Amino acid sequence: MKKIVVAGGGHGGIAAASLLARAGYDVTVYEKNAEENMGYDWTDIFAPGALKTAGFPPVPEEKYTYKDNMTFYGPGFRTALRQDIPADKLEIKMERRDIYAHIISAARTNGAKFEFNCGVLGPMMLGNRVVGIKTENGEVYADLVIDACGIDSPVKKGLPAVCGVNGETGKNNRFYVYRAFYNRTGEGEVKDKYKVCLFSEGKLGIGWIATEEEYTDVLIGRFEPFDLEEAKRTTDYYRESNPSIGTELKRGGSFVSIPVRQPLSRLVCDGYAAIGDSAYMTVPIIGSGIANSFKAAKMLFNVIKKDSGGAYSQDTLWDYQVKYYKELGAGFAVLACVKEALTVLTPDEADYLFDSGVINAKDMSIDADSTDIMKIVSGNEPNDIKKKVTGVVKDSVLFKKMLPVGKKITAVASVTAAMPKRYSKTAVDKWVSAYEKAISMKI
Ligand SMILES: Cc1cc2nc3c(=O)[nH]c(=O)nc-3n(C[C@H](O)[C@H](O)[C@H](O)COP(=O)(O)OP(=O)(O)OC[C@H]3O[C@@H](n4cnc5c(N)ncnc54)[C@H](O)[C@@H]3O)c2cc1C
Repeated sequence: MKKIVVAGGGHGGIAAASLLARAGYDVTVYEKNAEENMGYDWTDIFAPGALKTAGFPPVPEEKYTYKDNMTFYGPGFRTALRQDIPADKLEIKMERRDIYAHIISAARTNGAKFEFNCGVLGPMMLGNRVVGIKTENGEVYADLVIDACGIDSPVKKGLPAVCGVNGETGKNNRFYVYRAFYNRTGEGEVKDKYKVCLFSEGKLGIGWIATEEEYTDVLIGRFEPFDLEEAKRTTDYYRESNPSIGTELKRGGSFVSIPVRQPLSRLVCDGYAAIGDSAYMTVPIIGSGIANSFKAAKMLFNVIKKDSGGAYSQDTLWDYQVKYYKELGAGFAVLACVKEALTVLTPDEADYLFDSGVINAKDMSIDADSTDIMKIVSGNEPNDIKKKVTGVVKDSVLFKKMLPVGKKITAVASVTAAMPKRYSKTAVDKWVSAYEKAISMKI
């Protein structure tokens, strides 16, 4: 029986383990945390359909609620853009710990094994091939290693250059996040239950204030690291205009990172496949990655199953990359360019985009299923694109800044469309360097 190791208990890794174990593979997940400490002490939003895609049973109704529409504010807090997501597209909100409990239980029922409290240290190599992982409890050999260790995966980082998996996250591609739940005071009227502020205080990043019955969920995200003092100062700043945010820390209160970039240029090498945050599968402008990881697990499972000889080489695993980019990755690579464009805006320019209607409420109705920039804006008024172009052209400085964005999007979209459908070392090496060149175009 083929032995498959999942390094790290990321969502996609557990989903792949569950599908593979059900199909008769010998699969073990190696996770550094204890089972009861899996996940973060907060809620997440995701499309429930992805659970079904990954073969998980539906979540009991009492375990989730539906996400509220968000209201977006520009830096000057002048224009509010409120999402209006149709009822049939609403995502669910669920405790991360409950998501983990649900998927771990289902994976176990399917026969997947778990080794908790077992940190993974890096890959084991034999020539160019990954043949297992080094863990705190010793070496583990495997026919295939699925890397679900998240953004800072020691497996990905430990791969030698010959594998061609570029594990550098890169500047402005990591979102540093502080998230905390404070008690909710009875003060002040809460107009927008779920408020998202771009560039608050002129700092490159976002903040959200989500007011729940019992608490207020505060998130502060930046492209540069910041410390607890700064997080507290920013929360105090939010309190001035949102007096419902109390000072008693109820839950969370920690720092984490979210990848916000294009997917890895190479998701696979001999004996190795990356999934979830280790492969940068989040939607680059909103940071959602749970549903994408579940969807990717199904794609990876199908490719592994098809490789009846169990070679698990770049050649046989390449189909996973092709499928992922076709369904999700190519769209995310373009959205990564849009995210990059946002990082070069000044707060005044961001306000202009909000106030002039270049960005409107429909554009903000993005969810984890929004993979294509054209689909995101195509639901708008017929002359919306014209309005956007006219709005940008009117501001000559902004127009000059945005010109290279258009060029870069075209280059990235063309290169992803030209990804080799079948593996050949020469063709794939050539494609990877063309993709990385397009991605590194300056905005
Ligand atoms: C504040 C915040 C809010 C978010 N909100 C949402 C949301 O609402 N919706 C959404 O879809 N996504 C959200 N995301 C993104 C989402 O968390 C990820 O994209 C998604 O979980 C996929 O990542 P992952 O599971 O692959 O990686 P991770 O969540 O990073 O999981 C990696 C796992 O590997 C383990 N691990 C790491 N290193 C080692 C090691 N050396 N040895 C053994 N085990 C290891 C970790 O303990 C962890 O269990 C959010 C992220 C953050 C930080």
